[in-house]
Amino acid sequence: MSIDRTTAWPYDESGEPRDFIYQRYAHPTGVAAEAALGELEGGDALLFGSGTAAVTACVFAFCGRGSTIALAEGAYFGTGVTFAQFEPWGLKVVEYDQTGAPPEADVVWVEAPANPLLTLPNWDAVRAHPGLVVCDATASTPVFLRALDEGADVVLHSATKYLTGHHDALLGATVTRDPAKRDRLYQARMRLGLSASPDSAALLLRGLDSLELRVRRQSESAAELARRLGEHPAVRRVRYPGIGGLISFDVADDSARSVETGTRLIRNMTSLGGVRSTMESRHRWEGDRIPRGLLRLSVGLEDVDALWADLSSALESA
Ligand code: PLP
Repeated sequence: MSIDRTTAWPYDESGEPRDFIYQRYAHPTGVAAEAALGELEGGDALLFGSGTAAVTACVFAFCGRGSTIALAEGAYFGTGVTFAQFEPWGLKVVEYDQTGAPPEADVVWVEAPANPLLTLPNWDAVRAHPGLVVCDATASTPVFLRALDEGADVVLHSATKYLTGHHDALLGATVTRDPAKRDRLYQARMRLGLSASPDSAALLLRGLDSLELRVRRQSESAAELARRLGEHPAVRRVRYPGIGGLISFDVADDSARSVETGTRLIRNMTSLGGVRSTMESRHRWEGDRIPRGLLRLSVGLEDVDALWADLSSALESA
């Protein structure tokens, strides 16, 4: 599709705004991509400049001085870091085990599955909670989870990952069915300058065309690799939630670095959800809240036997 990169649109003959005014508010490519994502999730989508910008918008939209967020343990580390930026303004964050019931809080923040511990939320407990529920569904995508149907008020994505899918766009999104919540998020985007570019929105449209094919294949390969990893003597534990392309597995602490750097097809780099497989130690980023021997593998679209050959040779030479 053609990308309209215009940053401002002329008013009409009578001097009134037309559909689009200024790119920070909304732009045609973004609106088209929002319609496509909204249809997949069953709600009203908004794009943001990154997943982190979408997290920031949620705090601004749904929290105030003294608000508490109950954050799933083992969720994306950066989300907790973003929340911490708001502590000087009185935001409180309590971590909890999302396989159980959330504590008292204004906002419950779950991640499905949590990255990198790959736990899944307890939806019955989440539905019974009176607070507003945000579900970061980055790792499951709407192909495997429609979180609004499960009871989330807002779904959030780092669209940098599976939704765009090629490691070439930084993008975030929220989806909600409640017009008032959508409006608060829209205001946060516009007022804090958290908007997505037309180029990234176009890459989302391209990515959504192949989303289902990509993630189903990634999930099949991941299930097979998780099975083979589980039988490998150097692997102490495999964490695979049964869906999606992410696997976390544990090796001996002192061999993790050598496994991580020993693959060739699987690239040792951060990020996940792309067509190329990537793997990294999360202890590097998160310290002792993540086991030193844990490696997170994001399975791409390469041949599964070639991936296994790469992985098993790194495990054997570790
Ligand atoms: N949520 C999850 C589950 C993530 O993995 C990430 C990034 O790794 C983010 C949010 C933040 O997204 P972004 O890097 O697009 O700001």
